[in-house]
Amino acid sequence: MFADTPIESIVFNDQQVFVKRDDLLSEEFSGNKARKFAYFLENNFPGKTGLVGHGSPVANSLYSMSALAKLKGISLDFYVDHIAEQVLQSTQGNYAAAIANGANVVDVSMCEDRQDLSVIDYIQQKVLSKNDKLLFVPEGGRCEYARLGVHKLAQEIIDWATKQSLPSLQVFLPSGTGTTAVFLSEYLNLHANNIEVLTCACVGGSEYLQQQFFELVTDKNLHPTIIDLDKKYHFGKLYKPFYDMYNKLLATGIEFELLYDPLGWMCVEKILQKRVNQTEKEIVGSAPAILYIHQGGLLGNATMLPRYKRKYG
Ligand SMILES: *Cc1c(COP(=O)(O)O)cnc(C)c1O
Repeated sequence: MFADTPIESIVFNDQQVFVKRDDLLSEEFSGNKARKFAYFLENNFPGKTGLVGHGSPVANSLYSMSALAKLKGISLDFYVDHIAEQVLQSTQGNYAAAIANGANVVDVSMCEDRQDLSVIDYIQQKVLSKNDKLLFVPEGGRCEYARLGVHKLAQEIIDWATKQSLPSLQVFLPSGTGTTAVFLSEYLNLHANNIEVLTCACVGGSEYLQQQFFELVTDKNLHPTIIDLDKKYHFGKLYKPFYDMYNKLLATGIEFELLYDPLGWMCVEKILQKRVNQTEKEIVGSAPAILYIHQGGLLGNATMLPRYKRKYG
């Protein structure tokens, strides 16, 4: 499978933060989705000839599933609600790279037999029920299968923290479905009581994220801590503070993506700021080290960066 990814140290707002470089996991299959889809890489599916997925046509999961299908020598049919003209025309980014990998992206709004079906219902009723050779993967890899690869990530973190003799550690990663964060937190709670997982909701709000946690892990004690910012940011929209954060991080020598990471780092900023404020009031003992997980997704910058440059120069 994958080799352990490196952990680097950067200086962010004058404080040391460690970064787990999961963006370097593998060239064609990187980051968060590679962790979540590791199970599929390691296992064979006798009798299955294709993968079926769904979600956004610009999502990292489309590209990652196309890479997975290619590696396994099977087909990928990926169902989407709609594909914007701009996306169809793009020569870079997740959509273009997925097509290059041989993905078949189906725009359900163009299917004559759609009736009023949602994309999921369409897949269930019109696709899966007619072909048992297809393996369905829920949106963003939100399923039990994801546990295996995320638990390996958790063990890598434990091994590293042990080697560094860190008394305590806070691991931060931004969430979409929350699958990665909750499985990570589950494993770390059970195997390392000095490591805590913190996350933030990039898609929907914090309550929605918590519901997502419960779908996968019923014991609330094993859930990550959710960090909130005062202002609400909508997923996929462009914000000046996001672009500023992207550029600030770029100056540390590591490029991050533009959908999840800016919000993630704004939360890290808040955590660090709180520490500074506390230190003024009381003498705090050594605060836990912070490890930020770089979950990849850089291919999406090929479409996000031009949009940001047009808007903010
Ligand atoms: C998919 C993705 C996420 C969100 O992961 P979840 O497990 O759905 O919370 C975060 N960052 C990047 C770069 C991603 O591709």
